[in-house]
Amino acid sequence: MGRRIFKLLDYLKESVLQILFSYPSTCIICQEEEEEGICKSCLRSIKLCTEDEYYGYYKGALKELIHLFKFKKDFLAGEILVDMLETKISNISKEYILTYIPIGKKSKKTRGFNQCEYIAKLLSKRLDLNYMETLIKSKETKTQKELSKNERRENIKDSFSIRDKCDIKGKKFILIDDVVTTGATIEEGIKILKENGAKKIKILTIAKSRI
Ligand SMILES: [Zn+2]
Repeated sequence: MGRRIFKLLDYLKESVLQILFSYPSTCIICQEEEEEGICKSCLRSIKLCTEDEYYGYYKGALKELIHLFKFKKDFLAGEILVDMLETKISNISKEYILTYIPIGKKSKKTRGFNQCEYIAKLLSKRLDLNYMETLIKSKETKTQKELSKNERRENIKDSFSIRDKCDIKGKKFILIDDVVTTGATIEEGIKILKENGAKKIKILTIAKSRI
């Protein structure tokens, strides 16, 4: 009996190794054969932002990565995005706590996860920073995509609140969002955190977009 199980485990191990090593490693964006992840030419094509708050501009390979992660649940794309954000805050003081912009219950149900929550958790592990769930989306809103700047502000207004028993007084936060267009969502998040006593808030987002 015991030997049979070991033989079976050996067989399974061999099979897994065979799958892993026969699978070609290709670029997640252009499918060029390369190491697993993103190839150098796709990485170089990303237009970086000079501001501390954003990694790059929302187009090309960066937009593709965000879409793969957010809508196709490609967690390798998620890891690559976390690598990128890590470079922006690698020297941040340990006083800062990572938190994120929440999504509504409906979106979480259809998408299955909140990409910003995932990023904040992974960044906290990588950089040994504290992590806290602070905001909740207490009001369902329309998707911001088709709205004008003013409509976006109006749409998102009063849609966040602070989680029950969440004490943020005097604390410093890094607020994570994926794409910032007019800034209406992230500003609303900052407003609620400040109203509830947060001492300082820094923004960290993957991409900056234009309407
Ligand atoms: Zn590529």
